[in-house]
Amino acid sequence: MRSHLLNDATAESYRLSVTEGVDRVANRLARTRQPFSGVTPDELAPVISAVDLDQPLGDTSAALDELEQVYLRDAVYFHHPRYLGHLNCPVVIPAVLGEAVLSAVNSSLDTWDQSAGGTLIERRLIDWTAQRIGLGEAADGVFTSGGTQSNLQALLLARQEAKTTDLERLRIFSSECSHFSVQKSATLLGLGPEAVVSVPVDRDKRMQTFFLAAELERCAREGLVPMAIVATAGTTDFGSIDPLPEIAELAQQYSTWMHVDAAYGCGLLASPTRRHLLDGIERADSVTVDYHKSFFQPVSSSAVLVRDGATLSHATYHADYLNPRRTIEERIPNQVDKSLQTTRRFDALKLWMTLRVMGADGVGSLFDEVCDLAATGWEILAADPRYDVVVQPQLSTLVYRYIPEAVTSPTEIDRANLYARKALFASGEAVVAGTKVNGRQYLKFTLLNPETTADDIAAVLDLIAGHAEQYLGENLVRVS
Ligand SMILES: *Cc1c(COP(=O)(O)O)cnc(C)c1O
Repeated sequence: MRSHLLNDATAESYRLSVTEGVDRVANRLARTRQPFSGVTPDELAPVISAVDLDQPLGDTSAALDELEQVYLRDAVYFHHPRYLGHLNCPVVIPAVLGEAVLSAVNSSLDTWDQSAGGTLIERRLIDWTAQRIGLGEAADGVFTSGGTQSNLQALLLARQEAKTTDLERLRIFSSECSHFSVQKSATLLGLGPEAVVSVPVDRDKRMQTFFLAAELERCAREGLVPMAIVATAGTTDFGSIDPLPEIAELAQQYSTWMHVDAAYGCGLLASPTRRHLLDGIERADSVTVDYHKSFFQPVSSSAVLVRDGATLSHATYHADYLNPRRTIEERIPNQVDKSLQTTRRFDALKLWMTLRVMGADGVGSLFDEVCDLAATGWEILAADPRYDVVVQPQLSTLVYRYIPEAVTSPTEIDRANLYARKALFASGEAVVAGTKVNGRQYLKFTLLNPETTADDIAAVLDLIAGHAEQYLGENLVRVS
């Protein structure tokens, strides 16, 4: 069994094994004709259950053959131009290379004595990101597992900086389109059930600062404590960007922590043409960025940045065996002092390789391309009488619904759209997402693949219309 350990003696076997695996994936990618096979959980579950985990195959090739059946054949492929579903990006090759390197070396970024250069690389990338945001000299941050964790950590810092320890009195203000991790974080942080104040959005799905001001005023009047304002730079559903400069003004006026959730919109930090959409982000106290959304990085790759690095000490705990107090005086850089995690992946290496091979403009222009595509997609939808489209996109999301020519009840329109989404998924020809707008069922394209074309969008819209019409046709038959 020692032959399976990666070390000096097995270097050649490592090379062969990984190369064989890469070969399989490369073949699979080259042969993939649609984003999904359409397999159902009921079809796939017995295949996975049939594998006897106590009977190893003993051999890489055999395990890879099996992997074709249990995973690769039916996976959902984000690189396919007709994958238009959730906020998943196709990944860039330099980042995938970084992934292979980081798992083989297996550094752990909690302490210097488990990572050395890895720690310094992560710190450079944090500084690079903070500089792009404009957070100033005292800024700092740390890589996290994702936007959910980044938001949690930012709100933890905000809670500790708040001017009360009475958790019941703390309030967080975020738009009705903010990510559910804000609510989840509030619960995890021990805040009361009323803690998150949902601020209405305008028709472009951006927070209305008029209502934010009114809520802050009410909070003060009622003797409650404004703990944080969460501005979303790229809402998950619409890609809308809250008015950051106005929110920054209000945060200052009420001495409140301003957190910008740029999990989606962070790609603009590298955009050669659209960086101005994030103007005002430089006034944030903390920022969430998800490189695994708009920097074309493999999951996971995310970070939380803060204006004042000293605030990260709210996450600092010392353990004699790991990061004893003396290491601070000895100025040993232990990233665990800033993180909610202990053992932690060297995800930063993927971004490092990406920037070293492609450069920031290279990544940013890929994101620009999908934003351009969304603008074109909006025109296609707006000109198509079969569809109702909401919100002209700021980023790369389109939310729309099929509307039949014949008069039908709103419930039937909802059902037709839901049916179309499910039927499309079952066919595997394309994957789209869905959401609700004013209680009604809508469909959604999240465009993150520069390989997707306007023709793909048009073709998928035809497929959706076909499924929706089929549903309505069958339903009419059933009713009569
Ligand atoms: C995706 C997303 C998150 C959560 O990020 P994960 O990486 O999925 O944990 C938070 N906020 C916004 C606005 C998002 O789009």
